Amino acid sequence: MARTCRAAIVPEPGAPLEIRDVEIPELVSGSALMKVANAGVCGTDVHLWHGRLAGVPYPLILGHEVVGTIESVKPGGIQDLDGNEIQEGDRVAFHDVVDTCYSCWYCLVAKAPTKCPNRFVYGITLDSTKWPFLIGGYSEYMYLKPRTQIMKIPDHVSFDDAIFAGCALPTAVHAVTRSPIRWGSSVAVQGAGPVGLMLVILAKINGARTITAIDQAPDRLKMAKTLGATHTLNIQETSLEERSDFLRDISEGHGPDIVYEATGNALAVPEGIELVREGGTYTICGQYTDSGTVEVNPHYMNRKHLDIRTVWGSETTHVYQALRTIGDNCDRFAFKDLVTHKFSLADAQSALEVQQKQESIKAVIQPNE
Ligand SMILES: [Zn+2]
Ligand SMILES: [Zn+2]
Repeated sequence: MARTCRAAIVPEPGAPLEIRDVEIPELVSGSALMKVANAGVCGTDVHLWHGRLAGVPYPLILGHEVVGTIESVKPGGIQDLDGNEIQEGDRVAFHDVVDTCYSCWYCLVAKAPTKCPNRFVYGITLDSTKWPFLIGGYSEYMYLKPRTQIMKIPDHVSFDDAIFAGCALPTAVHAVTRSPIRWGSSVAVQGAGPVGLMLVILAKINGARTITAIDQAPDRLKMAKTLGATHTLNIQETSLEERSDFLRDISEGHGPDIVYEATGNALAVPEGIELVREGGTYTICGQYTDSGTVEVNPHYMNRKHLDIRTVWGSETTHVYQALRTIGDNCDRFAFKDLVTHKFSLADAQSALEVQQKQESIKAVIQPNE
């Protein structure tokens, strides 16, 4: 009889999660079975639960930011990017995107591999009714398909630290490589959720002169301060005009060189265009799912001579750099303190609800606790 494990499944958009038994498939060459330690609950998961991203197959096993321990692997089967063999008992993270083909026009000519039409994302676009079934982290085990980029977590890095290499930090690394912070930059970050907080950390590491975090949640703004934000602005307590004036006041009247958007709220975008300085850069990375339409004035953008960037998904290099960044900096920045809520698999529904109400900074599901 086939072995099974328990997984939390979204049966259809908007429906409550169900705990079901799912088959654990036999390993094929190059694949590995991972016992899930932490599955991060991403803002994107809440949107996926409500069906706000096209092309997602239901029933769905959520969970694209996942760390755990290798339960089984065929000997000699997998090497990490540094050439080390992946073995049973290794603590690992992995790039949630698999099957980027590196042979299509997007991969090779446009050099935009996150737009490769052949790629699949664990916990988002893989079909849980088809082999290998265990395709999301809200599950006791995950099946890592051949060609998944598996990375060892350094010994001194805890699973709570490493969870940020799953999604939030690679997204921030990608955003920063698209619009680089320079020494002395004046930076504002819209949204102090996990991605926004990772942007604060990267701005700090990169020598930004001012870093202003903008959010409505006092605990998130407090955390931003702890991680190196020089200033915070609460959107409940200030008007747009006051925020704009404040940002100009702390930058000799110019406004921020770079504004990063990491809110998941479409209303943030016209505001970001307003806040960034003339000739500055606005980088949008928090609109991964569809949060609606807003009005912007193109003439205003044109007149401001703006450089507007967006970031879609992440590449293996961003995940690799994220894990290295955590390893090099977890003594200086307490990544693990951002894990504010932990849930069992049976409570996965509550985890989504806590994330939806933004009561957590980072909630994780621990299916084997
Ligand atoms: Zn995510
Ligand atoms: Zn491709």
